[in-house]
Amino acid sequence: MRLDLSEILHRVGKNIPYDLDETALVDEDIECVEPITGRLMFTNAGSTLLIKGTADTSLFLSCSRCADYFASPVSLSVDEQFELQFSGGGLRETQQVDVIEDDENPIANRLFQGPIFDLTELLRQYLLVEAPTRPIPPCDSEGRCQQCHRLPEEVLAPYQDSQTPEEAAANSPFSRLVELLHEEETE
Ligand SMILES: [Zn+2]
Repeated sequence: MRLDLSEILHRVGKNIPYDLDETALVDEDIECVEPITGRLMFTNAGSTLLIKGTADTSLFLSCSRCADYFASPVSLSVDEQFELQFSGGGLRETQQVDVIEDDENPIANRLFQGPIFDLTELLRQYLLVEAPTRPIPPCDSEGRCQQCHRLPEEVLAPYQDSQTPEEAAANSPFSRLVELLHEEETE
């Protein structure tokens, strides 16, 4: 969803609440299984634009032990502040207002194009930060995954079940490279 913030950008002190109801976000990094709901408040604080509120959804994650998929609820706490730059003369209402984004994160996409705010991109960035790097589904009292009944120390390693370490090494795409390196060393 893209929102036109022209009105709020020109009115100092104005608050506009926004009820979130974004379709479930799915891309190569993030997979939501539910729409993103919640409420954001946009505030023009004079020299800054504030965006605060909460957003809730559920992420589709792969268990780091058994690779089974499971849904995990997430609750995002949004708290953003953007500097506003005014140019041109006259009243605030007629001046040109630009939202300043810092380029802290070079891989993040831009959030603003003039007064148009890319809400989906903001939520995507928050979800990326929130998503666990080693997802674990709900566990029982002994700490075993409720789906695969594995303990944390039984996390799947590549080739663990079907091959011996020697077989795994031989099947590795790097094995030929390793051989070549050995040949070079022995020459
Ligand atoms: Zn599991």
